[in-house]
Amino acid sequence: MANLWNVWKVGVDHNGYIDPDSYVKCWSTALTRAAFLLNRNHEAFAGLRLSVGNDVLLSDVTPLVDGELFTLEYSEVVRKRLDEQAIATDFFYGSLSLEPNQTQNILRFGLRKAFLDYSYEGFCPPMRFGGQEYFDERKYVEEDHFLEDCAVNYILRNIWHNYAHRRLQNINDGNYWLFAGGARHESDFHADLISSIMLVSSYGIPALCSLPKSEVANDRIIELFRMNKCNQLFVLRAQQRPGSGSTDGTHWRFRRSLANYISGYLISKNLTPTSLSLHLTDEQKIACQINGRYFFSKNKAPLTGGSKVRYEYAREVASSISNEFRGNLNDDANFYNWSSSSLRELKKVLLIK
Ligand SMILES: [Zn+2]
Repeated sequence: MANLWNVWKVGVDHNGYIDPDSYVKCWSTALTRAAFLLNRNHEAFAGLRLSVGNDVLLSDVTPLVDGELFTLEYSEVVRKRLDEQAIATDFFYGSLSLEPNQTQNILRFGLRKAFLDYSYEGFCPPMRFGGQEYFDERKYVEEDHFLEDCAVNYILRNIWHNYAHRRLQNINDGNYWLFAGGARHESDFHADLISSIMLVSSYGIPALCSLPKSEVANDRIIELFRMNKCNQLFVLRAQQRPGSGSTDGTHWRFRRSLANYISGYLISKNLTPTSLSLHLTDEQKIACQINGRYFFSKNKAPLTGGSKVRYEYAREVASSISNEFRGNLNDDANFYNWSSSSLRELKKVLLIK
């Protein structure tokens, strides 16, 4: 960590919310939480709670760790003549691997300078789908380290996105460029959904697919997803890349944001799917695939609408699709059994069961 900090801190401007030193600590906190989730089945960690805050978790875990629980390596691009565009495109995502030894799984994470820079610069108080702040000012005053907790939450979800590519999809930092175009979109929809499932699990909340008596959403899950909306790094990165302002780039970001909103909505209602993707029809309406079934929106997507319009559209679509999906689960016992058992099996592959 000392090296990482020493190399990176030189020349970094304070982003206005978290100082660079604390931001580096957020990475190590996120990796501790991630590594702990993947080690829960090891005897040494039995009884530890993920539901506690970051400070408590760190003090609980530290005495139990035998050697390393995770490693964080930092790399800069050393090749010459790479412009900002090439760095934002090809030298951005980190690497991740999980190495078992006798007592614990060690999580190894390689972080690129470009990702660290953009994610630090892009950090901001959590904002809604369309742009308004999620939490009022009291939250920042009343809860110590709330912004750091948001940063940890964001980093964690990014770690889990990488984990999904690596563990489920056979995609890593050495071959991802082979899977461009539609394959990239498909793999990212799935990795986003998996990262949401892993995110709530990281805080001790199981993602479920069940038909409870009550349809009330889980407030803690909603809060975790809201806290996650605290970074503009992909907007910053898009500014450096060609084609990102094109219709395709705009449509893709809209589809991805809305898919994430819908998956968070479903998870908060205990309707966690194992597959979700979202498409724009020729009429610019939504066709959303959930567990292999397709759900449709009546209204056109506000692709160029203002923030309020986009947020209201997201809410309306998520609510109606969630009701329809729940109806499908209710009406078809085989579909329900398959949906809940495939989620159980998925968790085994992800090592969180
Ligand atoms: Zn990805």
